[in-house]
Amino acid sequence: MQSDTRLSNLRAGLNGKVIGSDDPAYDDLRRVFFTGFDRRPAAIVRVADAADVAGVVTLARETGAELAVRSGGHSRAGHGTSEGGIVLDLSGMNAVEIDADGRTAWAQTGVTAGGYTRATGEHGLATGLGDTPTVGLGGITLAGGIGFLVRRNGLAIDDLLAAEVVTAAGELLEVDEESHADLFWALRGGGGNFGVATRLRLRLHEIDEVVGGMLLLPASTDVITGLVAAADAAPEELSMIANILKAPPVPFIPAEQHGKPVVIASMVYAGGAEAGEKAIAPIRALATPLVDMVRPIRYPEMFAGPEGPPQAFSAGTNILVDGLPARAAETILEYLETATAALAGIQVRVLGGAMARVPGDATAFGHREAKLMVNIAAMHERAEERPEHETWAANLAKALSAGTTAAAYVGFVGDEGEEGVRRAYPRATLERLAQVKRRYDPDNLFRLNLNVPPEVK
Ligand SMILES: Cc1cc2nc3c(=O)[nH]c(=O)nc-3n(C[C@H](O)[C@H](O)[C@H](O)COP(=O)(O)OP(=O)(O)OC[C@H]3O[C@@H](n4cnc5c(N)ncnc54)[C@H](O)[C@@H]3O)c2cc1C
Repeated sequence: MQSDTRLSNLRAGLNGKVIGSDDPAYDDLRRVFFTGFDRRPAAIVRVADAADVAGVVTLARETGAELAVRSGGHSRAGHGTSEGGIVLDLSGMNAVEIDADGRTAWAQTGVTAGGYTRATGEHGLATGLGDTPTVGLGGITLAGGIGFLVRRNGLAIDDLLAAEVVTAAGELLEVDEESHADLFWALRGGGGNFGVATRLRLRLHEIDEVVGGMLLLPASTDVITGLVAAADAAPEELSMIANILKAPPVPFIPAEQHGKPVVIASMVYAGGAEAGEKAIAPIRALATPLVDMVRPIRYPEMFAGPEGPPQAFSAGTNILVDGLPARAAETILEYLETATAALAGIQVRVLGGAMARVPGDATAFGHREAKLMVNIAAMHERAEERPEHETWAANLAKALSAGTTAAAYVGFVGDEGEEGVRRAYPRATLERLAQVKRRYDPDNLFRLNLNVPPEVK
């Protein structure tokens, strides 16, 4: 960034902190979840409140500096950091105010999914937010938010009641169904295109004791096919996330399974212990489980497990489809064999239920009708490897979408440019998003994201 004087001025008026390259905390703070994005921003601003956010946005707008907005830093495309630009780091804004009687929470967007879930869990309440504790509330909610409660309660955005947003003009807006309704619509699935969300008001559900955890099964074609069918046939109280991969050498997996294809199926049944055991029985019956950690637990425990080792890069893509072609399970296992990435995984999530009941045009999340999401990931160490893994993932995605160009979920789209945007949003949604973009960010200040340009081609 050109203007050091402007940065000093910002520093003077800030409640948070500007971290430059001479700061001892710089190296730690410039790191994002995918560690391969080893970028050196001109400054990282750890904002403390909405006024700080407005100051940073204004500085970026006026100086032309590239602006990276970061909540939890999990962007697959490395959008949470910038080479030479400004990182607006929301991680210090992580307060959660809970109105237990009103069943709502106001949460600052820098809180992690795990932090939010622990805070609401103290009241026996929950909002569905994915499956990973370190993901940021800001990023996951604006993308849509598909988690362990998706079939029971819908997407995270279906529980979003209001938001506070700093626009490209540096103005703080309170938005909901009545106020700036166009922006509120766009925020729900449109990602970070329209401003910086500083606080979100979310609906809470009475969810405390659930039947949940992880089931490890051998990954045969019958198990994969049966698992998808069983998850689809299960009551909506059950949502499952199944990862098909070669078993990593981690302590909870028996040593003789390491390197063999397995399914790690994580699930939550939120609706009573007895009914939960019954709902999960057909899944357990698919094969003798290699590990069975599904049990009555408190919901926040789903976000308490150990995180895997840091990954440099994740090539890959995702598809939202109505079903899988006939030989899908065979194809998945064949691709697992030919993968050359250090860690390759195919994640299948059965959708439907409450998510599908929200009308398609009610929010900017465009693909409510999709029955399944398949997320394909190839974790690797070196940037040069990426083309090879992207080709592997793209070919698998094509094979699983019966040769068509499938729809996609914003949250798991990598660096896929315009094609990614077209897959994430149906044409009518995209045109409406562009209209909102023209109104709130006509110069495309917020462009480090799955970018909706002010004018669509
Ligand atoms: C390990 C892993 C597990 C995941 N699991 C799930 C899952 O179960 N369900 C699911 O739905 N998604 C999941 N995701 C996808 C995840 O939701 C997206 O990558 C999301 O964008 C990450 O949010 P973040 O805040 O952590 O990332 P960041 O990199 O901080 O943000 C990503 C982008 O979101 C925007 N953004 C973030 N915060 C704000 C804000 N406050 N205001 C405006 N824009 C903002 C910016 O454009 C930013 O570039 C997962 C991702 C990973 C890496």
